[in-house]
Amino acid sequence: MNQAFEPLQPKRVMGIVAHPDDLDVTAAATIAKYIQQGAEVEYLILTDGGKGSDDLNMTTENLIKTRQEEQRNGLKAVGGNPENVTFLPYGDGELENTLALKRDIVREIRRFRPDTVITLDPTVIYSKTTHRINHPDHRAAGQAVLDAVFPLARDRLTFPEHAIEGLAPHKVGTVLLVDFDSATYYEDVTEVFHLKDRAIEAHPSQFTEMEQVKTLFRHMAEVVGERAGYGLAEGFIRLDVR
Ligand SMILES: [Zn+2]
Repeated sequence: MNQAFEPLQPKRVMGIVAHPDDLDVTAAATIAKYIQQGAEVEYLILTDGGKGSDDLNMTTENLIKTRQEEQRNGLKAVGGNPENVTFLPYGDGELENTLALKRDIVREIRRFRPDTVITLDPTVIYSKTTHRINHPDHRAAGQAVLDAVFPLARDRLTFPEHAIEGLAPHKVGTVLLVDFDSATYYEDVTEVFHLKDRAIEAHPSQFTEMEQVKTLFRHMAEVVGERAGYGLAEGFIRLDVR
């Protein structure tokens, strides 16, 4: 058991990631648990997801529409409101941690005012345990979100155009970084893991071998659960920012 923190009971959770499906495969069970505890949840998806298809008949335009619909279904599957997904139009595979991206993320943070932000760990270039190279969009997304949370969204004089739009500065309390190898905080998701299965099933355009994919993510939750002393768990690096 490695529970260095008090359990979280967030009220407003914003998941901010690069692609439609990133949250569903990494944090969906935790999000389902927070929704059951009464949290309001919104997703902010930074790219259009327009490159994720091997189907020769799929156009980028159709893929973007399909994946946005799938992401709305993914949030619905864990008990959220499918309307509460915002899509930014950055190109899939082309995401960079620019001032424009940070301004857009800060605007959404100042609008929704989350106490907890879930994003991807920007320091993960590859995983020694899963033998995977991390997608560069995931790294750029995680870095831009951290920059947006601290200090940009907090500081009144940063992006003063937001004040003209009626948005006040905002301090996020906690950031949860998805990191399979080096988590510091675990959520016991044994009771809600079936909802993560439903969230993964919301993405048929991404997973042609659906049963294998679900088995893989259940196995990963068992491995993380073993580390945490739970049946099934999701792990994060937890930063209590303030
Ligand atoms: Zn992704």
